[in-house]
Amino acid sequence: MVSEKKEILFHGIPASPGIAIAPVYLSGSQEKHIVSNESVLILPENIETEIELFRQSLEQTRNEIKDLQSTLRDSLDEREAAIFDAHLLIVDDRMLSTEVISLIQKKLLSARTAFKQTIERYISAMSSMPDQYLRERAADIQDVANRILAHLDGLADKKKVASFSEPVIVIARDLTPSDTATLDRSHVIGFAIETGSPTSHTAILARSMKIPAVVGMRRIFERLTDGDKVIIDGYLGMVIIHPNPETIEFYTEKLCRQERLLSELEKENRMLAETTDGYVIQLMANVEGIDGIEEIRKSCAEGIGLFRTEYLFMNKPVLPDEETQFQVYKTLAESMPGQPIIIRTLDVGGDKFDAAISLPKEPNPFLGMRAIRLGLSRPELLKNQLRALLRAGVYGDIKILFPMVSSVEELDGLLNLLEQLKDELRERDLSFNDDMDIGIMIEIPSAALIADQLAKKADFFSIGSNDLVQYTLAVDRSNEKVAKLYNPMHPAVIELIAAAAGAARENQIWISCCGELAGDPLFTPLLVGLGVQELSMSPGALPPVRRIIRRLSMREAESLVKDVRREANSAYTASRCKELIARIAPSIAKMNKGF
Ligand code: PEP
Ligand code: MG
Repeated sequence: MVSEKKEILFHGIPASPGIAIAPVYLSGSQEKHIVSNESVLILPENIETEIELFRQSLEQTRNEIKDLQSTLRDSLDEREAAIFDAHLLIVDDRMLSTEVISLIQKKLLSARTAFKQTIERYISAMSSMPDQYLRERAADIQDVANRILAHLDGLADKKKVASFSEPVIVIARDLTPSDTATLDRSHVIGFAIETGSPTSHTAILARSMKIPAVVGMRRIFERLTDGDKVIIDGYLGMVIIHPNPETIEFYTEKLCRQERLLSELEKENRMLAETTDGYVIQLMANVEGIDGIEEIRKSCAEGIGLFRTEYLFMNKPVLPDEETQFQVYKTLAESMPGQPIIIRTLDVGGDKFDAAISLPKEPNPFLGMRAIRLGLSRPELLKNQLRALLRAGVYGDIKILFPMVSSVEELDGLLNLLEQLKDELRERDLSFNDDMDIGIMIEIPSAALIADQLAKKADFFSIGSNDLVQYTLAVDRSNEKVAKLYNPMHPAVIELIAAAAGAARENQIWISCCGELAGDPLFTPLLVGLGVQELSMSPGALPPVRRIIRRLSMREAESLVKDVRREANSAYTASRCKELIARIAPSIAKMNKGF
């Protein structure tokens, strides 16, 4: 039967490979909900969930007010500071919460409706008081009520995104990394957002979760309603709305080809990533949080090349302390005996925010308080983490990786801090690994240019190409408006990687790449030819990269790099890389981006 609605094709930016066909769920349509005044009734089995939602919204509001209070502490006088105390009293008002909970239980009202009805009664009673002071307090109650309602809406919407009974494709204006981390993996089979770029952390998470995704899909949201059928083509960065039967057939066939290719590639999982002339490249996995370990085992990665610890801190009401982190790192080490595990210290800031860490808003977050800058300015956070890592190092081959190092002085500061912490652990009589490898990310051009000095102090380098490209070309990695300018094949980027690899070689330390280039088959010959010895990527990206290495010779890779550096022209580099992949691994070339 011919579809009644007209098929529309939208082009965005490919973010995570794969094909998904399913009805749409529009996430973030809560704006409609916020202004809605309707009373919402619930089913009796949802009473506990609604009460929990209400409690969480109070908790979040309390944290928000306390954060505001502490951020503004120095600039407020006593009377102003007391206003926040009064706001906290409203949040903690027992009578208010008892009334709301009783309305949820007895009248089966949603948390939002119950809270709104109760608070409106309070506000109208206060506003009609003869006492001017009490009348003015109505404004305070309204202010706090708005905060609580916003949290209720946020939580309700997240809850909606998080649980489905059928497969869906989520379409949103934006999904933050923490929203993405909470997506219901068993039912969300694809997503498209209007913002973002391939190296934004939302896209990185999509690859790690193996969910086909397209980003930078401008103005798609308003063209859709919940339940519309769509196809996500994560290879070519397309979304097809109301696909006609021929398109569905074409994509069903493409999905089958993708599955055939993947199962064929998986047969090579246990084979060494060795070039045809005998050079072995270590293939490692990037991990976001701890629930990816099973995935790593299946992928046959030789270890973890990048553990992004910020995901341990995300979406948590309280920050994990030293002991909690120690247990996580210890479990990780014990679950991968004999395998290297590179754990990167907290890298929040930029596009990764978290309420519990409460970062102040900055005009240029990627150039501001991010990663070790934050760690050095709020040392308690970093110290807890380093102590936990040193202690967990006793249970396996844990290596510490510092993000965003830009100077020798910074590295010296970090190494000194480590020595101090070791002394503290000795005093506390706790065992720790005194001989852990300490590495740094090469992700800022200044670090690549002084790599020779840094290599004398670090045990290894890991190229963070996502940031290296952003900082070299001055192109925001998460801004879809400049995504076309984000060009990892730019000769300047290649020269910086070459400089870091050269310094590593001369100082006899090893070098890996853990940015997204490592998992992009198009770049495999370049990275290998530049002398990168280890590639770390999301587990799903390992099989194609492994095949390419096994069909590549180091001689060929080095000669490619020589030509590319001589020409210093990104169009030339792209065409040479595409031509090489199409020759040695045609099925991968065909599936990926169509080259
Ligand atoms: C990078 O910058 O390449 C990297 C691996 O770190 P992140 O993407 O977390 O900034
Ligand atoms: Mg980085």
